[in-house]
Amino acid sequence: MDVEHARSWVRAIADAVDAGKDHLTELDAAIGDGDHGTNLQRGFTAAVVALDAAEFPVVGDVLIATGSALISKVGGASGPLYGSAFRAMGRALPLPTATPAELLAALVAGLDGLRRLGGAAPGDKTIVDAYSPAIAAFEGALNAGGTLGTASAAAAEAAADGARATAGLQARKGRASYLGARSLGHQDPGATSTALMFRALADVSA
Ligand code: ADP
Ligand code: MG
Repeated sequence: MDVEHARSWVRAIADAVDAGKDHLTELDAAIGDGDHGTNLQRGFTAAVVALDAAEFPVVGDVLIATGSALISKVGGASGPLYGSAFRAMGRALPLPTATPAELLAALVAGLDGLRRLGGAAPGDKTIVDAYSPAIAAFEGALNAGGTLGTASAAAAEAAADGARATAGLQARKGRASYLGARSLGHQDPGATSTALMFRALADVSA
C-alpha cells in the first residue's frame, strides 16, 4: 500500500457510505437513534475533502488525517471510535509504502485503539464483531501465502459474516445496549459499516 492506494481506500469508503447511508440509518433506527448513515457520510465526506487538500509523504498520514476528520465531524459514538482506529492505524505506518504484513500490524493497532476507547469485547454487538474476524481472516490469508488482494478479500468476507452474525447477539455496549434483549434479531449498524470498509479495501486492492 502506498499513499495513493490509501487515499483510494478512503475515497472508496466514502463512496460506499454514500451508497449505503440509508441502509445504515435503517439499521440504527431499529436499535439506536437512526443517525449512523448520516454520521459516517458527514465524516467521510470531510475526510475526502481533507485528503484532496493535502500532500502526504507517508501512508500513515492519510489515515491520521482521515481519523482526525472523523473525530472532528461526527457527533455519534462511531466518530471517535473509527477516528481512533484510523489514527492508530496511521501511527503504525510512518512509511511511504507498506507491505501486507505492515498493513496487518496497522489494522491490529487500529482495533486496539478502538477497543481502548470503547471497551467492547467480541460478542458485545459492535464494530469489534466485524473488525476482529476481518483481521483474523487477513492474517490467515497472508500466512497461507496470500497477497494484499486475496487477504483483503478474505477480510471483507469475514467482516460481512461477522456483521450478519451480530443479529444473534444482545448488545452490551453503545446505545443498543439500553434495549437489552430487544436488540436481538437486528444487525448492528457499526459492524455493518465496518464490513463496508473492508469491502472497500478489497475492491481497491483487487
Ligand atoms: P451513536 O450510537 O452515538 O448514535 P452511531 O449511530 O454513529 O453513534 O454508531 C453506532 C454504532 O457504534 C453501533 O452500531 C456500534 O457498532 C458502535 N459502537 C457503539 N459503542 C461502541 C463501543 N463501545 N465499542 C465499539 N463499537 C461501538
Ligand atoms: Mg446512532
